[in-house]
Amino acid sequence: MTTTEIRGDHSSKAPNRTQDSWLDTLERKRQAGPFMGADHVNSLGLSTCAVHAGTHDDPRTGAVGTPIYQTSTFVLNDDQYESVEGGFARDRFIYSRYGNPSQWAVQEKLAALEGAESAIVFSSGMAAITAGVLAMVDKGAHVVAASDLYGGTYNLFNQEFPSFGMSATLVDSYDLDAIEEAIQPNTQALYFEAITNPVLKVVNIPALVEIAKRHNLRLIVDSTFAPPPVMRPLELGVDLVIHSASKYLNGHSDLIAGVVAGPRKLVDTVWPRLLNFGGSLDPHACFLLERGLKTLPIRMRAHEESATALAKFLESHPMVEKVLYPMLPSHPDHALAKSLMKMGTGNVTFFVKGGDMAALALLDHLNLPKQATSLGGVESLISLPFNSSQATMTSKQRAEIGIDPGCVRLSVGIEDAADLIQDFDQALKRISREIPTQPAENKEISHAK
Ligand SMILES: *Cc1c(COP(=O)(O)O)cnc(C)c1O
Repeated sequence: MTTTEIRGDHSSKAPNRTQDSWLDTLERKRQAGPFMGADHVNSLGLSTCAVHAGTHDDPRTGAVGTPIYQTSTFVLNDDQYESVEGGFARDRFIYSRYGNPSQWAVQEKLAALEGAESAIVFSSGMAAITAGVLAMVDKGAHVVAASDLYGGTYNLFNQEFPSFGMSATLVDSYDLDAIEEAIQPNTQALYFEAITNPVLKVVNIPALVEIAKRHNLRLIVDSTFAPPPVMRPLELGVDLVIHSASKYLNGHSDLIAGVVAGPRKLVDTVWPRLLNFGGSLDPHACFLLERGLKTLPIRMRAHEESATALAKFLESHPMVEKVLYPMLPSHPDHALAKSLMKMGTGNVTFFVKGGDMAALALLDHLNLPKQATSLGGVESLISLPFNSSQATMTSKQRAEIGIDPGCVRLSVGIEDAADLIQDFDQALKRISREIPTQPAENKEISHAK
């Protein structure tokens, strides 16, 4: 019997990467992919990529739709045995946690949309973030990240990082000096969200790229709130782009998935984390995501159209204190948004007069938007940060990140703008009648729904 001891090694640069394996040799010659060898359409327009990239006609039947390869494993032949020995197993089908044709199809489409050499899909956005971040850092590493991160990502840095001997400093993403000052000798990565939630801050990615280059750090960006064609962070110089594909990318609020995309040599270092943490995406979910992606550019145009009209309507309404929509001149980051975003999205945040009580009443009076967390679906989704996404914060903590009373988080779907405007108009009219006469006893806040 042999005993193998596994120890962390503080002295080596990359102690948790398999030593002497091909994964360590980042100089190894790599091609983009893995792709199925179908026609590459990456040089074409984004809508064309969305429809055609990654698809292939089934050779046996001629089926136009991408088949769902509902299989856990694949028949092994000499070529596959060789791939394991030769260290190119990511380029062959062996076992579906490692790779599956349904995953490859949607990965190729995602890579084309992001302008990436390679992409990996995951069973959730958090699985993608965990694998992507941990692939970019070593034991003992430090990460500088935004102070208003998505809750799950905050928990990764706050709860999980210490058990890996890692640490993070969270800073205001507007404060470039503070970001640079937070960099320590063991800092290996910067982690930011392209557009933050819920105040829709637009982060200065080119400035972060410049800081990352100067300090030899990896820059990872969660671009869930700014999918292509809104933004393509890799083109701005970001090393790795991550999405919760549960939002705009899939777009139909009917699955949970994530994606990491970037240069092949970096994505190849993420792949072992997919194998080790196990967050692989089921073939049927791959099919749904691939189908959803076909309409991503056209959906984004519809989101933008309805959101812009509704944001302008809300801005002019006497019951609305303030509207935050980056493509409107009233947004504090409008100039940056104009330079970094190719178009607007469906996310609109606004503040109703009368505080959280009025906001709760508004939600109850609306007919079209669903009261639900999440975003990027074809249906409008509406929620209040104070009793959902930021419920664990105190009102002072919320105020520090711009969540003042009456804050409403709205993800405008692709419904007709006129119908949405009419619905908000009637709901706002009702609260303007009710709120001033609200008796004090009834001011209890309900967390139900
Ligand atoms: C939803 C979301 C995530 C997490 O994605 P899941 O698919 O729910 O795991 C990460 N980042 C942002 C910005 C999100 O909105």
